[in-house]
Amino acid sequence: MAKAKQQTTTEMMVELAKMFVSTDNAEPAELQAADKKVGKTKERRLEWAVNFAQQSPDIMTKADVYNSNLELALFLYPPLALTKEPVPYNASSFINPQRIPELKERFLKHIKAAATGMGFSFPVSHSCINVDESGISYHITAMAGTKEYFAAQLEHAELTLAQLIGQHWGYIGFCDPKKHGCGRYFLKSRSDREFCSKTCVNRSTTYRQRGKEPAA
Ligand SMILES: [Zn+2]
Repeated sequence: MAKAKQQTTTEMMVELAKMFVSTDNAEPAELQAADKKVGKTKERRLEWAVNFAQQSPDIMTKADVYNSNLELALFLYPPLALTKEPVPYNASSFINPQRIPELKERFLKHIKAAATGMGFSFPVSHSCINVDESGISYHITAMAGTKEYFAAQLEHAELTLAQLIGQHWGYIGFCDPKKHGCGRYFLKSRSDREFCSKTCVNRSTTYRQRGKEPAA
């Protein structure tokens, strides 16, 4: 049952994608590679989103932007990994790259709120929420190509992130520079982890042993 429904979703998206004129295609192999980067488990997907939100736009080449946009599409529509035919790279299933900095900002805002233990909320429009044996999923109900559709695309991404954050509450950490951490947000493997990596733990320990307590 679940398989049949996934296939339908993919077919629907490919059909939708064809409505737009596009000369570029995302090849199935590229989509599968992006799917691998994003990961299958909820933890890995949330980790991907936390890293995505912190990618610096300044150091990204055109190819990086393209690859990161494919990964975003797989984050939002995992069934895309199953497609056997190229998917036109356009504004139906893929978010306009120009709007990605704005999306990253929104992601980071939610991630920061979660790391401080505060709740957060945001409005959504033009989305339909489905609940079934595979969990909760979202569909954009606005007409493809409209202003509402493009707004709903970003909200759809926020909903996907929010759901993962909610399922891992207490596990978004901030590697605090005041304690000689690197200043990045990360997904904790245990709720009491303070630093993102061994490197950051070691740096902090070294400073503390030298008696260089950072200014509060
Ligand atoms: Zn760190």
